[in-house]
Amino acid sequence: MKAPARVRFEDIIDRMEEYLPDVDEALLRHAYVFAAKRHEGQVRRSGEPYLTHPLMVAWILADLELDELAVAVGLLHDILEDTETTEAEMEAEFGPEVTRAVVALTKMSGYESTFTSREATIAENFRRLLLASMSDVRVILVKLADRTHNMRTLEYMKPDRQKAIAQETLDIYAPIANRLGIGSIKRELEDLCFRYLHPKEYERLRKELQERSEVVERWYSDLEEVIRDLLKKAGIEGTIQGRVKHLYSIWQKLRRQGISVANVFDFLAFRIIVRSVSECYAVLGLVHQEWPPVPGRIKDYIAIPKPNAYQSLHTTVLGPEGHPFEIQIRTWKMHELAEHGIAAHWSYKEVGSEHQANDTRIAWLRSLLDTTEGTSPREFLDSLKVDLYPDEVYCFTPRGDVFSFPRGATVLDFAYRVHTEVGHHCTGARINGKWIPLRTRLSNGDVVEIVTSQQQHPRRDWLTMVETSRARNKIRAWLKREEKEHALEIGRRLLEKELRKRQLALKGVPAERLAEAASAHGHAGADEMFAAIGFGHLDAEAVALELFPRDDGEAELPVPSRSAAGNTGSSGVLEVTGSSDFLVHLARCCNPVPGEEIVGYVTRGRGVTVHSRWCPNVRKLLYNPEREIEVRWADGADVAPSRVTIQLVFTDRPGFLADVSQAIAEERGNIVGCQLRAEGPEQRGTASLTVEVRGAAHLERILERLRTMDDVLEVGRQGLVTGVEP
Ligand code: MN
Repeated sequence: MKAPARVRFEDIIDRMEEYLPDVDEALLRHAYVFAAKRHEGQVRRSGEPYLTHPLMVAWILADLELDELAVAVGLLHDILEDTETTEAEMEAEFGPEVTRAVVALTKMSGYESTFTSREATIAENFRRLLLASMSDVRVILVKLADRTHNMRTLEYMKPDRQKAIAQETLDIYAPIANRLGIGSIKRELEDLCFRYLHPKEYERLRKELQERSEVVERWYSDLEEVIRDLLKKAGIEGTIQGRVKHLYSIWQKLRRQGISVANVFDFLAFRIIVRSVSECYAVLGLVHQEWPPVPGRIKDYIAIPKPNAYQSLHTTVLGPEGHPFEIQIRTWKMHELAEHGIAAHWSYKEVGSEHQANDTRIAWLRSLLDTTEGTSPREFLDSLKVDLYPDEVYCFTPRGDVFSFPRGATVLDFAYRVHTEVGHHCTGARINGKWIPLRTRLSNGDVVEIVTSQQQHPRRDWLTMVETSRARNKIRAWLKREEKEHALEIGRRLLEKELRKRQLALKGVPAERLAEAASAHGHAGADEMFAAIGFGHLDAEAVALELFPRDDGEAELPVPSRSAAGNTGSSGVLEVTGSSDFLVHLARCCNPVPGEEIVGYVTRGRGVTVHSRWCPNVRKLLYNPEREIEVRWADGADVAPSRVTIQLVFTDRPGFLADVSQAIAEERGNIVGCQLRAEGPEQRGTASLTVEVRGAAHLERILERLRTMDDVLEVGRQGLVTGVEP
């Protein structure tokens, strides 16, 4: 929200006339003059006359395009709390509606309250505020405007008060603004809270983005032009807004994914505003024809609005050079709703009417107050916080431990959260004492009791029953292990069959002979070799021949087609299935390590480029399946060292880097380059280490080792996405 540094009463009237041509100036002037008189002589901590505060609050409300009564309440909101004015006096001047709202906005001071603790008084003030908001939603809107201006002028408070107020705002007011759908206020509050709660990180991020502003500008205008062209060709009239996401959301993303601000493109977002819903979908199609979408990131909030009534289409696409960026597509009506939320939707002519009562956002307030009736102030504050995060579900174990889950999570997710083994052996569950199926979704406050049996094991269809990545990964790992054991058994049987044909038996083969044969095929041991046969990667007959070469000496060992040229001159690192004519090289974006899953991609005139399966650019490749080609690592490819860059996020302390070097050395990795940034003890630091490793398994060992270090917050390979935002 753009705010002038100072507002005069006339500015407010001017702003209101834009949306209320016949604004009731008399009521507003009456409120203004009254407030000016009562607050006369009072000053704020900033040294400005006190009146600047109610004026700015009224301005924020006018900017949300609220009615005269709301703006008048904004002008008067501190009168009862901070001046000698009485309720009766106020009612005589302005009538019962304005007075009721101002009373609700007046905090009970400690001695008026029946509660002894400060926290209890705060909770009780909240409850009164929300109760009043249910019958008149303007009350909470004035409170949000009040808090917004107080946050803007927080610099004049003492540091400990700054932190306390910012924390309360982040815990309660920003989420309330979100629940009511008022995006503009939510974003501003979050950024202000961020600034006071984590001043260093805030300042650093702000600077880092500023340094990159030129690159960003160039990107914007290039992409904007492409979008403008797309719309023009399709004959769609639309407005394009490009922006960097607000700082707090970027910071959260950086922390969640452990990525660097250098990937500034990740924080760009475009908004395309069009005239109709059908145009929204048409634009989505056009955008996807221009840039491939990132799978799993297309959200249709038009068909399924968010709980706060927000509507839009969201997609993330891979732009030039594989940089992902976000696009939101919406109509003007949806746009206004997204920025002003309930303030846009709700009409003041409908106070207390059925229409207002049916609004889902008001319904949320009501259900919160209903379910917390008679609870203690502490319980009330707790459930308020729980309820303010609509995307999270909180559940309890019978012992009272609490776990939070993303909405949609099931009982099976819960079991895996308790313990991996509990997940693997989970046979059933009771929620609040009642038996329920494993795929039952969790609701807030559920008490979940898991029943296990040693006979139970994960099944493949469990993958469709879980929502958390933790549970999914555990199930996958179990299935993979199981599959390998299965393959091992099949491989052993196939080899036995081959040997029987020659009147031989596996039993008679000495262990060292088996190990030799295994290593000849690039496997660590006999079991790995059996598994390879079972998976069909290795021919049982070839192994049989190797174990017992024919007497005539002409061993008919099929020679593996070791063809294609390798990277950087060393040949035979990669093999292209079915052809020997390709020039093969490793993609620079992800620089795959021998042993990891890879994908080949036929380029025009440059042979085959090989990417890691996890490379973000691969998603784009998959968009052209006809150009994909099967490649695999040649046996022994991991003998030569390859360089990878590992990124670390850590809490800095003296000697940290030395410990990291030692850990890597102990895993036989060789550090060949290092970039480190830390702000001093106890601060967050980041490091990029270039390490020579021999194969993917070696790299994984090193990463695993770093992950177990206490001060390490995040570890990952550069260039590879570690996780996709939910
Ligand atoms: Mn105030």
